[in-house]
Amino acid sequence: MPTLEAPGKINLYLEIKGKRPDSYHELLTLFYPVTTFTDLVQVEFSDTACTALSCSAPGVPVDQKNICCKAADKYFDAAGMKNPGLHIHIEKKIPVAAGMGGGSSDAAAVLLLLQQKFQALTPSQLAETALAIGADVPFFLNPKPALARGRGEQLSPVDLPDHLPLLILPTLFPVSAAWAYRYWNQYKDHAPASSDPELLIRTLQKKDFAAAGKLLRNDLAPAVVQKFPVLTLCTELFAKTGGSVLLSGSGPTLFALYPDFETQEKAYRELSPEFRKYELTLFQS
Ligand code: ATP
Repeated sequence: MPTLEAPGKINLYLEIKGKRPDSYHELLTLFYPVTTFTDLVQVEFSDTACTALSCSAPGVPVDQKNICCKAADKYFDAAGMKNPGLHIHIEKKIPVAAGMGGGSSDAAAVLLLLQQKFQALTPSQLAETALAIGADVPFFLNPKPALARGRGEQLSPVDLPDHLPLLILPTLFPVSAAWAYRYWNQYKDHAPASSDPELLIRTLQKKDFAAAGKLLRNDLAPAVVQKFPVLTLCTELFAKTGGSVLLSGSGPTLFALYPDFETQEKAYRELSPEFRKYELTLFQS
């Protein structure tokens, strides 16, 4: 059965430049794929003329609300085709509503699987279709480190190390990305006066992870952290072990970048039991 791996992502940098006249946000963000959490997306072709869906995880809609149904509809619309009939199955490993792009990654996998089968769209039509589904979907068509501008669709590939000394903490409650974006501008004053994703990229390329930790940025973080104080507690625990902590996307997943892999390993051993007290599982990337 045609199957694709759909990885998660974190944002090492997320600057909101402002709200655009079309009501979307103008972004400057550095996407980094995370294969520690990878969904499996399968598409089986049938002759039912509709899309059926199943998912291994509770809490994910298995009707038209699933972003994968939207992806299939948009693909067939763009291709001017009738839906021949599909069954999509998602084996879910990416935490849901956690700021790791799980739904967007699944949607991109559906587009790629349909394109493999039908070859009905040009690469630019495929990219446009991805953007019409969601701002993170174009990145997942080719999930390699990339700096994204615009709504997230103007992607410039960036050469970054395959492994970074990261610890990732998916938290147990969901955060709505729409909510985080709605409240971002109430906390605009918390954003650093100046910061530079290009400098962050060069610093990561030099593997100066201690310096890179000081250049991480996420403009959605102040609103989300204010609403969920447990995130401050988790941040303090990471900071004690030498990690530079950031919220991924709209959260609540936190990640910490360590100066080197040795410190990361030590922090993992120290912090895993600490977080387990709060029923949270820590992951090494
Ligand atoms: P965003 O890309 O908006 O930052 P996220 O990574 O925080 O998203 P997702 O895991 O994509 O969060 O889920 C967001 C919401 O979308 C969930 O509340 C869920 O109900 C719904 N959803 C629809 N389809 C999917 C899917 N295939 N996987 C996960 N969630 C889905």
